[in-house]
Amino acid sequence: VSLSLKVFFAGADEEWYASHRWQDKSPEQQEYETGWAWDQWAAASCAERGGHWWHLDWSAEDGLDLQCLHCPAGINELYPDGGDVLFAELPLLFGKVLRIEYGDIPLGTEPPCRYWSGAVRAWVESEYHRGGLWGPEEWDAWVVVESL
Ligand SMILES: [Zn+2]
Repeated sequence: VSLSLKVFFAGADEEWYASHRWQDKSPEQQEYETGWAWDQWAAASCAERGGHWWHLDWSAEDGLDLQCLHCPAGINELYPDGGDVLFAELPLLFGKVLRIEYGDIPLGTEPPCRYWSGAVRAWVESEYHRGGLWGPEEWDAWVVVESL
């Protein structure tokens, strides 16, 4: 039985490699994958050179957008689906503050402005909850954004 299983998996591997061979891919797929690899390289080397230059745009119409000015990195580079767990208090004129919780204006409040755009610091914070009688251990993580 184990011999036939091995043969089966070897065959499946062979097919997998064949379907992923570079020369067998369409020019479009090759171009897409080359572009993706360059983006990964640019984002990794940008982070290594001292960190991303984050820029935050928020508008009442389009919501949040966090992008690095020097490479293709976005919020997902910082934390997967980080836009949903983003917190910020962004300064406005006259001492007002644009408050963002979970990537949006807090429910039931009116935004004090229509648009905010500027350079920010952005980082991930996390908190460990020890498991116990009532549940398993957990990590909470969220993204904090601060105006520069
Ligand atoms: Zn960057």
